[in-house]
Amino acid sequence: MAEKRDYYEVLGVDKKASKEEVKKAYRKLAKKHHPDLNKDDTKAAEEKFKEVSEAYEVLADDEKKNLYDSYGHAGVQNNFGGGGGGGFNWSDFTHYNDISDIFGGGGGGGSIFDMFFGGGGGGRRARRNGPARGSDLRYDIEMSLEIADEGIEKVINIPRNVQCDGCKGTGSADGTTPNACNTCGGSGQVKSVQRRGYSQFISINACPACQGKGQVIEKPCEKCNGAGKYRKTGKISIKIPPGSDTGTRLRLAGEGEAGSRGGPPGDLYIIVHVLPHERFSRDGRHLYTETNISYPEAALGAEIDVHTLSGKASMKVPPGTQPGAILRLRGKGVNSLGGRGRGDLHVKINVEVPKKMSRDEKKLLKELDRLKKKIKS
Ligand SMILES: [Zn+2]
Ligand SMILES: [Zn+2]
Repeated sequence: MAEKRDYYEVLGVDKKASKEEVKKAYRKLAKKHHPDLNKDDTKAAEEKFKEVSEAYEVLADDEKKNLYDSYGHAGVQNNFGGGGGGGFNWSDFTHYNDISDIFGGGGGGGSIFDMFFGGGGGGRRARRNGPARGSDLRYDIEMSLEIADEGIEKVINIPRNVQCDGCKGTGSADGTTPNACNTCGGSGQVKSVQRRGYSQFISINACPACQGKGQVIEKPCEKCNGAGKYRKTGKISIKIPPGSDTGTRLRLAGEGEAGSRGGPPGDLYIIVHVLPHERFSRDGRHLYTETNISYPEAALGAEIDVHTLSGKASMKVPPGTQPGAILRLRGKGVNSLGGRGRGDLHVKINVEVPKKMSRDEKKLLKELDRLKKKIKS
């Protein structure tokens, strides 16, 4: 693959561009390079379109944008390294939500955009009436920080369309073949001119009579009623790798929806969401927390217990520690994705000033105060 272009350059925006400006630039470019609007050179348009979508995906997300600003492409690449699923591949993933967003959203299925983005025909376009790849599926999974740290194997239930075993996906009962559709003459498409806001464009919709298939099944398969597939909830075993974070994606090839007319199935994407933790905040493989110590502990130094993800650990507070100081416990962070060891736990030190004191304590502090004043004068 050619060298990756700078994301800001791709979208033609400034580093300081607001979210709104990034979105605007993306919409404009996504429209310009949309493969369905560039029939003369679909391949080049598709490349451009992917590049633009990828840039937007990163620059529109604060977290990814930060990583990108600090580490360049390597920073965001890592983030999507994935684990068991074999890594994340941009070219195989289209963001349906973002796209419907561009074109005013909603809209019943079957518009040219839906066809491209996983509506009727799946993530990839197929020749009409030819085999079509099944749609990609997305499954969002929530987990605690502890589980994300350790990783987990889980069986999930995915309702999806599977290929009918009664007709091998053709939809026709044994021995019969479908006829060409009268409404569209077998092309599967009907054209209409549409107006959306400021622009007018020709919309090619799937034929309502044959749902874009171009064929009408005379004698439907009894098991699937001619659909060639049916809904079935499948149990799939997934492996969330240790160190997963919010946004970690796994791709399970071929576990999406069944394809049409002999096309391959789509893929299943697992998207991880890590729930906020009551005690720790996280940045990559590092954890952050706070703890309280007393004034004497801060002044004289102490050995204290702090909470870590896996129980308590002891930590040395050096003499003369100031309020707000951050002490580090090496290797007490979270696992890093890809198994490069654990990050660190950063502990912010709060020094407590007592609100109530015993008579003896007061006496001692007064004595200390007197001593301090004596040194000063
Ligand atoms: Zn069938
Ligand atoms: Zn038709």
